[in-house]
Order: sequence, then C-alpha cells, then structure tokens
Amino acid sequence: MSSYRCLVQLGTDADLRLCVFFIDFDRFKQINDRFGHLAGDKVLIHVTNRLSALISDTICFARLGGDEFVMLLGNLDESEAVNLAQRINDAFVQPIRIHDTEISISASVGIVLADMSYQSADDVLRDADIAMYRAKTTGNCYQLFDEEMRTEHLEKIELEGELKIAVCEKQFRINFEPIVDLQESVIFSIESLVRWVHPEKGIISPGRFIPLAEELGLIIEIDRFVFDKTCKQFCQWRENGITSPHQKFNVNLSCSQLERSDIVPFLLSMIDVSNISPHDVVLEITESYLLADSGLVMKNLNEMNKLGFNIFVDDFGTGYSSLSYLAKYPIHGIKIDRSFVRDLATSKESKELIRSIIAMAGALNLTVVTEGVETMEQLHIIMELGCRYIQGFLFTRPMNSVQAETFLANKSYRRLID
Ligand code: C2E
Ligand code: CA
Ligand code: CA
Repeated sequence: MSSYRCLVQLGTDADLRLCVFFIDFDRFKQINDRFGHLAGDKVLIHVTNRLSALISDTICFARLGGDEFVMLLGNLDESEAVNLAQRINDAFVQPIRIHDTEISISASVGIVLADMSYQSADDVLRDADIAMYRAKTTGNCYQLFDEEMRTEHLEKIELEGELKIAVCEKQFRINFEPIVDLQESVIFSIESLVRWVHPEKGIISPGRFIPLAEELGLIIEIDRFVFDKTCKQFCQWRENGITSPHQKFNVNLSCSQLERSDIVPFLLSMIDVSNISPHDVVLEITESYLLADSGLVMKNLNEMNKLGFNIFVDDFGTGYSSLSYLAKYPIHGIKIDRSFVRDLATSKESKELIRSIIAMAGALNLTVVTEGVETMEQLHIIMELGCRYIQGFLFTRPMNSVQAETFLANKSYRRLID
C-alpha cells in the first residue's frame, strides 16, 4: 500500500483537510544490532498491530520503509491530533515481548494539520518528517508542525552543506581551557575545544555543529583534526617550556570514534610523531556512550587503558548512570557536569549531590574535575567539598593559543586560589 499515492489522490479534492502523522521509532537500529534483524522484523509486526489497533477511521496507514510509518486521517482538530499522538505513545509503554526477551521501544511522532495550501503530497510528508525530527531531537514524543520549523530545517540543510565544505577545507581552530589543580596551585591539564571559523558567519560554537557533524558522520574527521593539532601544539609548548612536563591535555572523543576499530592505532600514530606519551593524554567521553554498552567500545577502552591513556567521563551526572555502573569500565576520572554547579550557592541538593559524587569517586579511586565554576562563591563551596580539580570561566574562558601562552606564563589563576 502506498501512502504517497493516497495523498496524491486526496490532494485533488479542494475541500479536503488532512491530518498526517509521521511515526518513527527511536534507536531502532540498536534493536537490530542487539537482537538481530529477525527479532527486529518481529518487533515491526508488533508495532504495526499496536498502531492499527488505535485507529479505525484512517484513510491510509502505511509503512514508508525501515521503522517509519505514516497515518493519514481526515479532518482532526489540534486537540484530537494531540490526543491520538499521546495514545500512540501510550501504546508503547509496555515493552514488546519476542520469545523470552522484552524489548522497549518508543515512538517520535510528527503531525501536520494540512489544508489545501499544500501543492503536493511530497510537501506534506516533508513537513511531517520535519516535525517528527523535531520531536526526536527535543525528546518530546510528538510535535505539531509549524512554519518556523521549515525555516529552521532549511537553515540546517544549508549548514550541513557548509559543514561538509568546512571539513574539506579544515575551517576549524582550537581553543584551550585549563583545568586547575587547587592543591598544587598548578595547571593539571588543558582541554581542547573546537571552533568552526565560518568564512561568512564567523565563529560557530561546537554546540551548534557537533550534533550535526555526528549525524553526518563528519565528527570523526573533526575530532581527528583536533587531536592532531592538539598534539602538535602541546609538543611545541613543552619544547618551549610553556607547559611543564607533568601537564596533560584533554581532548573530547565522540561516540563514533569509540566504536571504530582504528581509533587506537590512530591515537598511537598521532602521539608517536609528536613524541608524546599516552600518560599525557586525557580522553573525554560522554557517559551516555557507555550506557549504549557496545562490545567494541569496551574493547577500545581496555586497549587505551592498557597503553596508558587517561579516560575521563565528561558531563557526569547528565546520563543517569551510577558510579557503580561506570566501575566496570577502565575509567580514571569524571567531570561533574556544570549544571550541578550553576545553583550550588543556593541549592542544598546540588551541594549534597556533589559531596556524595566526590565521596563515591574517591572510594573508586577516580579523579574528579568540577566543570563550570564561574564565581568565587562556587569555588569556595567546591573547595570546602574537597574537589581538587576545577575548570570554569572563573579562571578563564577558552582561549586561542596566543592567549593561552600568556595565561600559562603569568599564572594569574594563582591569585584566585592561594
Ligand atoms: P564540554 O566538553 O563539556 O566542554 C565544556 C564546555 O563548557 C565548553 O563549551 C566550555 O567553553 C564551556 N564552559 C567551560 N567553563 C564554563 C563555565 O564556567 N560556564 C559555562 N557556562 N560554560 C563553561 P564549548 O567550547 O562551547 O563546547 C561545547 C561542547 O562541544 C563541549 O562540551 C563538547 O561536548 C563539545 N566539543 C567541543 N570541542 C569538541 C571536539 O573537539 N570534539 C568533540 N567530539 N566534541 C567537542
Ligand atoms: Ca569535555
Ligand atoms: Ca563537560
């Protein structure tokens, strides 16, 4: 059955209003990877049955391909459409049982309430897809389409094209942000943070383009560029006595890197030419990647650990993992996410949370870095809680290499902690 054909036919009736639901299942690929394609197919059959049971007066209900479904309904108003979207979501609260395995699944739903201003079925489907994508990225289970979304979508497409060029032309530069060791009053390490220097739009922050780069598979090249440049910069700083021999550098590794079989040889080849030891390098990974629990991630982490690389979990506390869960991985440290620091001065809960994270991390022999320290008040509380390593705008915002050299030379951070 083709929903496309239905839309085309219905589009010729001048009085008709339509409601189109675009339904996509979250992380379906992981289900296929983990349980096999046969189980994936069975899940799809269950999904179809559950969806069909929800609707009686559908004009058309079709699978577009993969885990994407489309429902075409008559003239629903907004609250009826929202109600159906919620029922679609409720239909997947119960996991799907395939033999002895319970498989949890959730849907993202994009909704278009279409009038005859649409010229073609393709346009309606495109907008429903845009709304579905928005639902997925915001973590809402459903999203009604509006015009603004189309503009943002077009901007995203433009940015995608520009990012591909940026990767080819290496339009990136690195900023450096130090991590201060409060106990020794020295710089423990320096984190490399990438910036996109767009030829017309100027500096674009990683928050805007890293998720896009991950989606497009461009992150590998960006991360590798950053690692290469960082090694060279660090080597030069060491040779010139700008950084001391025990100072490390931190780089962020995306999930896709950890899932590649060539990541360890790549890291080794880079440090080799720069004459750097793995002990000098802190690899920052995000905890949600560990929750995905892929065998290759564990294998790579074990190898990195054996070679002497330091592995830190970034943004700790945002991914719902517990420290005891992380204990099964070869991890040397955690970076407490800055969201816990933001309201430290006013929130007793944040303070107690950081206190217990530090205590538990200590018991597991993990180094703790607290990120996002912006005020003296926050610094004093963090010091009182016993955290030794701090990063944040209080000391400096991320700097270019020249600014970093000045910062390292005049040691102004010492005034804040001595
Ligand atoms: P992150 O790894 O958690 O890096 C810390 C971010 O927090 C940086 O933002 C930094 O500028 C900001 N920050 C540091 N101290 C403070 C503070 O006191 N207050 C506030 N409000 N912010 C602070 P940035 O540079 O925009 O980077 C954002 C994120 O982009 C990074 O978060 C990291 O996840 C990602 N990223 C940056 N560079 C790379 C890279 O080379 N590769 C990959 N895969 N991701 C990167
Ligand atoms: Ca980081
Ligand atoms: Ca972080």
